[in-house]
Amino acid sequence: MPIFSNGTAVALKNGKTAYIKDKLGEGGQGNVYLVSIDNKAYALKWYHKKTLNENDKFYANLANNIVQGAPTSAFIWPLYLTEIIDGEFGYVMELVPDEYKCFSDFLLTKEKFPSISVVVNAALNITNGFRELHRKGFSYQDLNDGNFFINPRNGDVLICDTDNVAPYGESLGIAGKARYMAPEVVRNIKSPDIMTDRFSLSVILFRLLFLDHPLEGKRTLCPCLTEELEQKFYGKAPLFIYDPNDSSNIPVRGVHCNVIKLWKFYPKFIRDKFTKAFSQECLHGDTARPTDNDWQIAFTRLRDCIAECPCGGETFLDLNAPETACINCGTKIPRPPLLLTKKYKVALFPGNKIYRCHTDEDSDDYTIPDGIIIRSHNHPDIWGIKNLTRHDWTVTSKDGKVSALPSGKVAVVVKTDSIDFGNCVGRIELLRK
Ligand SMILES: [Zn+2]
Repeated sequence: MPIFSNGTAVALKNGKTAYIKDKLGEGGQGNVYLVSIDNKAYALKWYHKKTLNENDKFYANLANNIVQGAPTSAFIWPLYLTEIIDGEFGYVMELVPDEYKCFSDFLLTKEKFPSISVVVNAALNITNGFRELHRKGFSYQDLNDGNFFINPRNGDVLICDTDNVAPYGESLGIAGKARYMAPEVVRNIKSPDIMTDRFSLSVILFRLLFLDHPLEGKRTLCPCLTEELEQKFYGKAPLFIYDPNDSSNIPVRGVHCNVIKLWKFYPKFIRDKFTKAFSQECLHGDTARPTDNDWQIAFTRLRDCIAECPCGGETFLDLNAPETACINCGTKIPRPPLLLTKKYKVALFPGNKIYRCHTDEDSDDYTIPDGIIIRSHNHPDIWGIKNLTRHDWTVTSKDGKVSALPSGKVAVVVKTDSIDFGNCVGRIELLRK
């Protein structure tokens, strides 16, 4: 392969030129360079000849992906192809901004999440990225901890290495990374596709929340992981560390400390979801695996039950119990009033937001805040819902009075019976004494 020196001009298919500024890294498939096109900085991935010899579909697949465009702005997607030089080529993509950190650095605790809402936001953003990718007819094929960059400030996600993304049914011969591959891919009885992506996504989400691995417990502690053992643990006989019917792979104190500490903090519906995703049924068959949409709804519900404790830390509330102990300090927090809609149950705790998916039955948008719970300046014990939309809501008070709540105005929570948001009615449930 050519070693590009700084200043080298590389011709692009679209007639423009990329100028090499620096070498950013070397990988198994090729090298990555910092380049400049029309005075804007980008990354250029240049493939090893070996990679291309092993697979002649790369060029056509990348050309197709460029035409299709990125499923969402969460993807670092191929933008331009280079001309072919001596049988080799590369493609240009956006650079990952400095404030985004590689997911594997969070797993190695080089980077830390400042709060649980950042973790839950990252889970929502990863899940939504994959849902939109799959809805566009692509599968990712090689999901692993090196593919994601997360902004630790807010949980924003960038999904990288999208050159292996391919339409359904197309296989680029990429098997994936061992600890993230579906058991049937490890066993080499199936090529990666949307169903195997579902498995890999469950592993990624488990690791994001609990920092340990769902299949690595007592049984997998061994001095040397031979190929035979790898086949057993991740392929032929995988076993979830919290399998309700078989405790032979439980996490070990002093080794799997993160999951031992964190598992119990998460509400039961989240633990149940992972228990299902790594049940023997889902490990040995793909039809019952949770879909991207199942996860997106689960994490939206999870965000709906976060509250800030007086200790300053965030905690999850059990919305079915009269009070929940803070995961940081143990203080018992009484259950706040709830907003109940057809699909969701939202804790009306100061600072929490009501999103478009809560106010519109036809929307699943978890990013647009339509309302926020605020405290009264003069009476901090009085909480209200502020209308952040541009249209009126219709509020029915506890005494049956119906009135309009214009944009920017606030309805007092304890005085409100229900709110008609336009395309969804939410009922307010106070804690029964
Ligand atoms: Zn606390």
